[in-house]
Amino acid sequence: MPIQNILDIQNVSKTYKSAGNALTVLSDISFSVEQGATVAITGPSGSGKTTLLGLCAGLDRASSGSVALNNVKLDQLTEDERAAVRNRYVGFIFQNFQLMPTLTALENVMVPMELRREKDVRARAVELLDKVGLSARANHYPIQLSGGEQQRVSLARAFSNRPAILFADEPTGNLDGETSEKIEKLMFDLNHEAGTTLVIVTHDLELASRTSRIIRLKSGLIQSDQHA
Ligand code: ADP
Repeated sequence: MPIQNILDIQNVSKTYKSAGNALTVLSDISFSVEQGATVAITGPSGSGKTTLLGLCAGLDRASSGSVALNNVKLDQLTEDERAAVRNRYVGFIFQNFQLMPTLTALENVMVPMELRREKDVRARAVELLDKVGLSARANHYPIQLSGGEQQRVSLARAFSNRPAILFADEPTGNLDGETSEKIEKLMFDLNHEAGTTLVIVTHDLELASRTSRIIRLKSGLIQSDQHA
């Protein structure tokens, strides 16, 4: 059976408009990603990496062109419909973790499952925290956790819908080498065990070299697209 594309981006451009100014940050970007691939997006600061990741994940809308996740075209969907597609297929982690400060580690992992009105939410959150090695920290608040521990909580949260595709924006950017290694292992384990596609924005060339494909952006254009 042919491998399906989980992500298909065709002729995507993005222009930010504010106070009468227009800034085009992505110009005519096209690429597809096969289910199960691991992709790094690299490039200088300001080259459009985070913007591109947000469009791919359906967090924002392209100014022109089309974005399809698992063959669902996002462009004509309402915000609620895009959120439903994200809930179904997408996990997302950020450089600054984006945990809710007033909730414990366990509660942070429970939130998206509760929003999806799933069953056995607490028990599944316990399992997910165990998977990332954080059972002992379940009742701690984010401020009581190290950066690496916070990122592991956000990974547990991102894994809660068994995403077909995980987007990560500089996931190890704020972490030391040893801690980064743990986070990378968790992401690549998910790829090996569950076939989850990884799309990772990173400045870390060593992390990029572990992926099956490196897309380099420069000034909003694809400068190179190399398969390992
Ligand atoms: P990178 O991730 O490669 O650093 P970004 O996608 O964050 O690049 O940003 C690309 C360009 O778009 C930058 O010049 C940035 O200032 C601009 N930009 C990003 N987000 C917005 C926004 N919401 N409104 C206006 N300009 C933005």
